[in-house]
Formats: sequence, C-alpha cells, structure tokens
Amino acid sequence: MKLETLFFGMVGVGAVVLILNFYESSKWKNSIPDEVLEKIDIEERRILERIEHLYSYKLDAPLSLQKLHPSMYGVTIFDGENVEIVLNRSRLKESLDYMIDDVMPHEFAHALLFKFGKYDGKDGHSREWQRVCLELEGSRCDRFVNHRDIIFGKIGF
Ligand SMILES: [Zn+2]
Repeated sequence: MKLETLFFGMVGVGAVVLILNFYESSKWKNSIPDEVLEKIDIEERRILERIEHLYSYKLDAPLSLQKLHPSMYGVTIFDGENVEIVLNRSRLKESLDYMIDDVMPHEFAHALLFKFGKYDGKDGHSREWQRVCLELEGSRCDRFVNHRDIIFGKIGF
C-alpha cells in the first residue's frame, strides 16, 4: 500500500471518530437521549412486573432522574408511608449499564422492603434486602457497599 493512501485513510478514520464523539456529546448536552430514557423505562417496568409476579404486590415507587451528589448513583427516600427512587442523572452517561443492571434493582429492593415495613434499622443492606435484590435480578447486590443510599424524609426531592 502506498504511504499516501495509508495517511489519508488514517485521517479519514480520525475524522469519523471525531464526528461521532461530537455527535454523542451534543446528544447529551441539553437532555437525556430518548434511547436512554427508554432503557430506564423498560428496566423499571421489568422490575415492577417481577415484583408483582413474585410477591403479588403492585409497588408504587415513582422514579425520577435528578442531580445528586457526584458520589451517588441513586437513593431511595421513605417518609414513613411513601417511597420514591431518584437516580443521579449526572452519572447516566458514563454508567448507564451499571445504573440499569445494578443500581435500579438495588434501589427497588430498598423501596419494597420499606413498603413491607422491613427496614433493618441500619443502612438497609440486610440479608433480606440482598435476597430481594437478587430476586429482582440485580447483578451484584453487594451487602457491604460503602455508601448510604436511603433517606428518611419528605417525598418530593
Ligand atoms: Zn443501598
């Protein structure tokens, strides 16, 4: 192959990569891309259907995407009666798969146990929480996570 052809080939590939990167970040600039919202929506429905199937219970746990502290992926808020789940929208871009496979089942398991009155009195990562999280097909369900992700307080984050 001629050196010239190789050179222009590489410049061409570089340009395509740049354009794709630019496209990817401009998609995220003002809002969350539709395909991301749809993935979250599908996972939410999957979890709720699974809860209904396993426990014959319709969980009412509104899910929203908000800016949280950068160290957090998601939180479950409980006011003594209602539960709400908030995912950190700032971490969606770099951690979408983690959000869907880990964080969502993790938080829904907290929400369900709150509704069932089974809070462990500590950080919420009891053996029972782990069992529920695994039943909801969470991919890790680690009991010894080093963060607090449950909040007692007013709903309406
Ligand atoms: Zn947790």
